[in-house]
Amino acid sequence: MTGGATGIGAAIKQQLLDGGHQVIVVDIKDADIIADLSTSEGRMAAVAAIREKAPQGLDGYVPCAGLGPSVNPPSLITKVNFFGAVETLEALKDLLVLKQGNVVMISSNSAPMGADAAYVDACLALDETKACAIVDEIGEPQNAYGGSKLALTRWMRRNSTAYAAQGVRLNAIAPGIIQTPLSDKVMADEKLGKMMKDFGDTVPVGSLGQPEQIADAVSFMLSEKASFMCGSVIFVDGGHDAMLRPDQF
Ligand code: NAD
Repeated sequence: MTGGATGIGAAIKQQLLDGGHQVIVVDIKDADIIADLSTSEGRMAAVAAIREKAPQGLDGYVPCAGLGPSVNPPSLITKVNFFGAVETLEALKDLLVLKQGNVVMISSNSAPMGADAAYVDACLALDETKACAIVDEIGEPQNAYGGSKLALTRWMRRNSTAYAAQGVRLNAIAPGIIQTPLSDKVMADEKLGKMMKDFGDTVPVGSLGQPEQIADAVSFMLSEKASFMCGSVIFVDGGHDAMLRPDQF
């Protein structure tokens, strides 16, 4: 997995370890493999180190590393959230095929909330230079964030059939607002903080989510109990998506 140092990733790591699994964590800090997933070199170094640690294959992959909608320049969000996940997954595909492993992408319930179409298309065309140029020109980190998660989710949907043909299931989870260092930074942001806090007050179940609540769903999605789940996007967001898009189904 990636992004296991803090927040949701740390909770996923802990649940997997508690379940007796061997976990290899890639992160920019506090990890088995230290790598910067915002660069192609960092991604390939991470993949090479994973290959060394697991030449026999992978039972699963959770590319969880991500940056929130308060980070500048916006393209840094694109590089980690979309390209960091997709480029590493593609490079690890053969290891997942070896063990018929499965993958949980970390999307967001902000994915369907609107993003620049040209930006999302550039991500899906795997044109990192163009995608980054578009979001930096727009200059809104929120756009880069929502678009990175929309593109990631669409990429998962578009590729789930081909991966399934090789025995690898791709799914995505779309968390709502979860209390982590990422959301703390957004809450403290001068521009986004008030909007985020007001939004947090409207979660239908009455509170923000905790990382363990996302890890619970990810553990299930990684397990054999989810063996017929493929290409699915599971919203775990206290009801926000249903509240905002009740008829989008
Ligand atoms: P977090 O900041 O606690 O965790 C993010 C992790 O990614 C950290 O361990 C960090 O070190 C790592 N990371 C960041 N940049 C990196 C880089 N360049 N290279 C390698 N690792 C890097 O945040 P979180 O809230 O736990 O986020 C985890 C995932 O969940 C992200 O993909 C995020 O977009 C997604 N998500 C979070 C929320 C939320 O409200 N917290 C909601 C929806 C989706």
